[in-house]
Amino acid sequence: MKRVSASFTTEISLLCNCRFATVEHYTAAMVLSGAGDALGYRNQLWEYNESGPAIHRELQELGGLKNIKVELPDWPVSDDTVLHLATAEGLATGLQIEQIVSVLTGKTGEELLHEVAARYVEAMKDMDGRKPGPSSILGVSQLKPGEEEGYRVPYNPDGTGCGAAMRSMCIGLK
Ligand SMILES: [Mg+2]
Repeated sequence: MKRVSASFTTEISLLCNCRFATVEHYTAAMVLSGAGDALGYRNQLWEYNESGPAIHRELQELGGLKNIKVELPDWPVSDDTVLHLATAEGLATGLQIEQIVSVLTGKTGEELLHEVAARYVEAMKDMDGRKPGPSSILGVSQLKPGEEEGYRVPYNPDGTGCGAAMRSMCIGLK
């Protein structure tokens, strides 16, 4: 990650009227996001269970939340955490600083968008047992990182679910 002077960071903070997350904040948010995903996924068992009462009943049968230790092999993360990590890793390249500067100067920050797209394409190779949905599979297959506008995909009117939200939380932390 590129080093940024404290004064530059302060100036950006003032312009954005925001505070930057610390590494501790960032790490905690990423770990908790992955743990929440693993809990809700329950190794494919709860991913498509549409009955909240049934899930709660099964949770009680496991001894409740306090009795669950979220770890492999029983509690893998799903597709969403793999792609959330791809988003975060793209941001961690340091290109985000250029993106901020680009926004301030009116230029586009396409390099970062291509970087994240490339990481999504790569991350799709780690989906065994993670149940990516059809919208995710289609959308990522349409990414062409490195090609003009290759980070854009057409609007998918059949898209459902919450993957976009689950994979973008780390953007708000920057
Ligand atoms: Mg998932």
